[in-house]
Amino acid sequence: MKIKRLEISGFKSFADKVVLDFQQGVTGVVGPNGCGKSNIVDAIRWCMGEQSAKNLRGKAMEDVIFAGSETRKPLGMAEVSLIFSTEDGRAPAKYLDYAEIQLTRRLYRDGESDYLINRTPCRLLDITELFMDTGVGTRAYSIIEQGKIGQILHSRPEERRFLIEEAAGVTKFKSRKHLALKKIEGTRLNLARLGDVLGEIR
Ligand code: ATP
Repeated sequence: MKIKRLEISGFKSFADKVVLDFQQGVTGVVGPNGCGKSNIVDAIRWCMGEQSAKNLRGKAMEDVIFAGSETRKPLGMAEVSLIFSTEDGRAPAKYLDYAEIQLTRRLYRDGESDYLINRTPCRLLDITELFMDTGVGTRAYSIIEQGKIGQILHSRPEERRFLIEEAAGVTKFKSRKHLALKKIEGTRLNLARLGDVLGEIR
């Protein structure tokens, strides 16, 4: 899955809607200090479901909404859309019929938020699952920021294993196994309760 387009509006320094088209090959973003280069990466990370304000260089999630400037009032909502092309055939099977996948995240100042896939409201879990085993996603290796390489080299083997499992396509199955085990445990508890009730009836 390749990022085709990024649409940012009301997010950090991007008060007005900005559309970035990513062409084939390498894209470089250049500009003076503080012009908003890193905010572009923050927007990508946020749209992919980042839940930590700290990882977005803020204190609270509300800090991603345009906070105003000398000439403009603060805005009430941030919206970022990421458009992926599915041409390389590496998207999850259920999305392969679509030429592109559009992810959208919105956040309002009152804390309300929306996630959408192809303009249809969805859960954060749907977005996390969409990225599993693709190498994309907030915990995966598609975003290598300053200091990340050093962090990977100095991380504990279990932490490094997460990246290798993601590259090997194991993450999705581990997550499904975890959910299945939780279901089995729930069913086991239900059966135990049923046994108690039956014991009382007899
Ligand atoms: P450098 O080259 O120094 O790393 P940069 O181009 O990566 O800089 P960013 O860190 O992306 O710059 O952007 C910083 C700018 O974004 C600052 O001017 C800051 O005031 C602005 N900014 C961050 N959050 C908001 C917000 N919520 N509302 C308005 N502006 C914001």
